[in-house]
Amino acid sequence: MDSKEEKVVLEWQRSEPVDPSILTEEFCANARKILDMGIEEMPGYSFDCVCGKHHSVDMKHLLSGSGAVERLPEILENYKEAKDKKILLLCDKNTWVAGGEKTISVLEKAGYNVKILTLETENYPVLVPNEHALGTVLANLTDDIGFMIGVGSGVISDITKLVSHKTGRHSIVVGTAPSMDGYASINAAFVIGGHKITYNAHYHTCIVADTKIMQTAPDELFRAGYGDIVGKYTALSDWRLTRDVNDEHYCEITAQMVENAVNICVDNTEAYFRREESAIERMNEALILTGISMGITGYTRPASGSEHHLSHYWELDAVEKGIPHPLHGNSVGLASIASAEVYDIMSKRFEVVANVKAPKPDFLREIYSKAGSALTPAELGVSEDVFRASLKNGYKIRPRYTIFNFTRDHGMLEEVADMVADKMCK
Ligand SMILES: [Zn+2]
Ligand SMILES: [Zn+2]
Repeated sequence: MDSKEEKVVLEWQRSEPVDPSILTEEFCANARKILDMGIEEMPGYSFDCVCGKHHSVDMKHLLSGSGAVERLPEILENYKEAKDKKILLLCDKNTWVAGGEKTISVLEKAGYNVKILTLETENYPVLVPNEHALGTVLANLTDDIGFMIGVGSGVISDITKLVSHKTGRHSIVVGTAPSMDGYASINAAFVIGGHKITYNAHYHTCIVADTKIMQTAPDELFRAGYGDIVGKYTALSDWRLTRDVNDEHYCEITAQMVENAVNICVDNTEAYFRREESAIERMNEALILTGISMGITGYTRPASGSEHHLSHYWELDAVEKGIPHPLHGNSVGLASIASAEVYDIMSKRFEVVANVKAPKPDFLREIYSKAGSALTPAELGVSEDVFRASLKNGYKIRPRYTIFNFTRDHGMLEEVADMVADKMCK
């Protein structure tokens, strides 16, 4: 056990005691206001919270709902560099069909001068966010371009986010699928030199979540968004566990905001997979809200826990081997079943774990089966060996305390990992 493994809770993550005298009824009611706010009201909002922190939503604009992309000119109007110079629109051949054409027609009708760049990865079915893609964008980023718009999901969003950040330009993403919670985060994930690397970038100036555009996304992407959202149940469980075991900072209001949004998505599972626009809108809101929750707390706890460590482990393994890996959210979905299995075993032996009230693995199986998601590593395309190894070593991915650290600290990780792997791989 080296010291890096030991320090799973860093000093700044510890909770500062809050002076109880400030927690008047009025103060608490004011802090809870965010729970009733619509998502388009949130950009720019800030408040003092019961957790002792000041939270602010640093995003500038958000357009959500049916036909939201039509309102894009209302946002661009505020930016001189979009009016006086050209806009570079990034897409790939799939996202061009899904939302690129529509976005161009809106922009051209409003008189904007747009240059289109369609990215692709040679000899590969999907666009990979690698050096080649970044180089292509940079080579096309001439001085007459004042603004960048990405039309796509995770990969296009991240390329647009990083290049605009590095070159001091504003960016907008027009989401084409409800596939992950990264639209509203400041991070951007890449594959550089064959390794997965996440960079700090900035918030998109505006996120456009148009349900009419997203409605046409492939099933696989629909399931991915669903998995990334339902995975918040175990992320929130890990957050409560570290609060109780390590006294780590925990924000009750942020946790509740995320959990409410996830519950609404679960209640609307069937409508979402029938592609009803109102259910897609709820899903988008949940994905954007979890992005916001990370922004306001300043860390990823509300959105990512042991299920993300497992999914990163599988992803890194595939990237190292140069083989394709499942979509992020689909991995997170299966991984959250594995985390819930560990919780189930440990909660029978330790009261502190039982108190966290983690989701039951069979509850997750039931809702994922409605979604048609993978319920076993084999269905997801992860080998038994990699799956078993991830249960034993996934906690090393990030120095962050989860149920796996708890299990290891009690000398039970090998045994519990084998129990879970045997059950899920049989
Ligand atoms: Zn995620
Ligand atoms: Zn708070």
